[in-house]
Amino acid sequence: MRILVTGGTGFIGQSLLPALRERAGELVLLSRRSRPDEPGLRFVRRLDDIDDATHFDAVINLAGASLAGRRWSQGYKREMVASRVGTTRELVALFKRLPQPPAVLLSGSAVGYYGHRGDEILDESSPPGEDGFARDLCMDWEGAAVEAQALGTRVCLMRLGVVLDNGGGAFEQMARSFNFGFGSWIGSGEQWLSWIHRADAVAAMLWLLDHPELDGPFNLTAPQPVTSREFCRVLSDYKRTLLDMPLPAPVARLLLGEMADELLIHGQRVVPSALEASGFAFSLPDLPTALASICAD
Ligand code: NDP
Repeated sequence: MRILVTGGTGFIGQSLLPALRERAGELVLLSRRSRPDEPGLRFVRRLDDIDDATHFDAVINLAGASLAGRRWSQGYKREMVASRVGTTRELVALFKRLPQPPAVLLSGSAVGYYGHRGDEILDESSPPGEDGFARDLCMDWEGAAVEAQALGTRVCLMRLGVVLDNGGGAFEQMARSFNFGFGSWIGSGEQWLSWIHRADAVAAMLWLLDHPELDGPFNLTAPQPVTSREFCRVLSDYKRTLLDMPLPAPVARLLLGEMADELLIHGQRVVPSALEASGFAFSLPDLPTALASICAD
């Protein structure tokens, strides 16, 4: 079995790759940095470097410049779009020149697809949000991936919630103030946070790979989303704080601009209906269990 992965060097990829290496005879990773190949693991810097005669059984598409890393200038917005939508279009172009398209494409997306929706419970049948950069980005990213269906490829769209674990990702940023003794949420704290433990995100990806009857959108989020304030309350059970206080929304806006509005001040209450209906079982379904596991490491 040969699997192509984009963005496989990232936070999710670091956990996904060892699991893929157990099942794939050969992994090919698209990465901007050149690295030495290893047995069963080959790096390519551009999709054009892939020989036209190559056959891939599966493709997992996770590449993308971080949404949370910095303020969203116009130039950085273009980079966030190009690194996701552009890469996905290039993947579909690659599929067209291969002798046979891959059987399955698992392609990234995010709960930002649903926009700002207050307390509404959102599953895969919910329509996209009305506006917003993250919504537009997810819609275009998904739209580019769905093009592969016309070639006969099974396409699963992974609408990821905030992926939590040690060693990077959002948790490190969310726990930072707690490490200094301050429990801090942003704005009202009533905004919903749809999260998933990295181990479950990886398990869900393997599940989607292994079930040829599954396609379409899947919310990769734990069954129990929480409000931002509840997240801080649960986290303070594991990291003792001297003072709990919110960061007012206008201050967050001043510091972080549009990114604060889209990712921190507003949220989505997303549930993984499609995954659960398919029989997938979460190993860390609720926040106390997930944070206990993360904080124990
Ligand atoms: P990371 O930011 O850790 O890694 C993404 C990878 O994308 C990097 O390792 C990098 O690979 C590649 N990349 C980064 N910038 C660019 C760029 N400008 N052009 C091309 N490639 C780039 O992401 P995660 O592992 O956390 O997430 C994977 C995907 O899932 C991302 O697309 C993300 O948007 C999405 N997602 C993640 C969530 C999370 O909480 N982690 C939540 C919702 C969605 P290299 O340096 O090797 O080229």
